Amino acid sequence: LNQLYRPLNILGFAYREIKQALTDLERMFQLLEEPPEVIDAPHAQPITDVRGRIEFEDVDFHYDDDRQILSGLSFTAEPGQTVAVVGPTGAGKSTLSRILYRFYDIAGGAVRIDGHDIRDITQASLRAAIGMVPQDTVLFNDTIGYNIGYAKPDASQSEIEQAAADAQIHDFIATLPKGYDTMVGERGLKLSGGEKQRVAIARTLLKDPAILILDEATSALDSATEKDIQVALSLASEGRTTLVVAHRLSTVQDADLILVMDQGRIVERGTHAELLSQAGLYAELWHRQDTVDA
Ligand code: ATP
Repeated sequence: LNQLYRPLNILGFAYREIKQALTDLERMFQLLEEPPEVIDAPHAQPITDVRGRIEFEDVDFHYDDDRQILSGLSFTAEPGQTVAVVGPTGAGKSTLSRILYRFYDIAGGAVRIDGHDIRDITQASLRAAIGMVPQDTVLFNDTIGYNIGYAKPDASQSEIEQAAADAQIHDFIATLPKGYDTMVGERGLKLSGGEKQRVAIARTLLKDPAILILDEATSALDSATEKDIQVALSLASEGRTTLVVAHRLSTVQDADLILVMDQGRIVERGTHAELLSQAGLYAELWHRQDTVDA
């Protein structure tokens, strides 16, 4: 029986390794998954010295021909402003952020950065100008230091730690026995949703883009974590045009502009105070949230 045990053990090990490798591969393809129609135009130019003015003009969009997702969407974010997008689930908030990153091309209207239609800009330069903090950040099976620093391969340890501190994740990392050398990801330490978002914010700080997109995690966060993320976000948005897809209204109060979306349209817009006084959908969502929190 002992003679059998060893090969079986090796087989078991190999099985787990192969399964993990396949999962990694699957993840990679998910990451690389881009609709084939989004390609650089022959005349596409790189965008440089981005100031960060974002303009959506009468944007129509659908994933599938038979179902319109965004209709006649228009708004402008001036350089350095924070625009928050709120609204019921399925309203099209995340779709709007994916369109700015040009994961998909639109069916009508135009999206411009600093006055340039994003279809005339090379995708590489567009994505270099935008830092994207998605709902669910994929971590590499590597150290937490690597995961933060890979956005800037020549980053020094002190730059990585500064970015982590600004993203409100340094203190947590400092409590780990191996600190920045702690392995994370599928085969290492599993981070919570809030921790992963802060790792993603730290990455973005190192990348130093003119535009920041934050797609807030839908999962409920405890109030200390939520506060940390708010601090991280307000530091990260300083001097950058920031688009926040907000799932909690507590994050949007200080935004320069709040867009309220419903069924693919912007139905209200304004600051928090302006929207509350309108007593419309935003006010309703706000008061409903109050009752849920109470
Ligand atoms: P939530 O608050 O739940 O995240 P949301 O406002 O961000 O919602 P979106 O994720 O933008 O909404 O989705 C808008 C609509 O588009 C939804 O009806 C959704 O089912 C649909 N949708 C989203 N992604 C795709 C896709 N890849 N293919 C087809 N339909 C999609």
